Amino acid sequence: MSKQTNDPSRRRFLAIAAGATATLAAGSLLPRLAHAAQLPHLSPANPQAKALGFVENTAQVDQAKYPNHKPTQDCANCTFFQGAAGAAWGPCAIFKGFAVPARGWCTAHATRK
Ligand code: SF4
Repeated sequence: MSKQTNDPSRRRFLAIAAGATATLAAGSLLPRLAHAAQLPHLSPANPQAKALGFVENTAQVDQAKYPNHKPTQDCANCTFFQGAAGAAWGPCAIFKGFAVPARGWCTAHATRK
């Protein structure tokens, strides 16, 4: 067993495999983050956004119009939010091609489990 771990070719293989894994992980994450930064911000004036009562800040929701809204609901804790943890803006599976703010809200909100 110790003969295997001391084998220079085995150590070299493990080092290359570890490096390749790290490179693949970074390679799959970076395009997503770069993509999110390039997306235009969703405007509340967007027709689809209007139809779903989208606001840029959950504190702005008209509670009389949307009585099921809870102040704790926002894009950051919505299952459709695809931004990185702690990101101010991120992609949304409902509003494809746009970034939504972490503090935003719309009627499609579904609390992430
Ligand atoms: S679906 Fe969720 S993440 Fe997308 S805008 Fe509505 S509340 Fe925000």
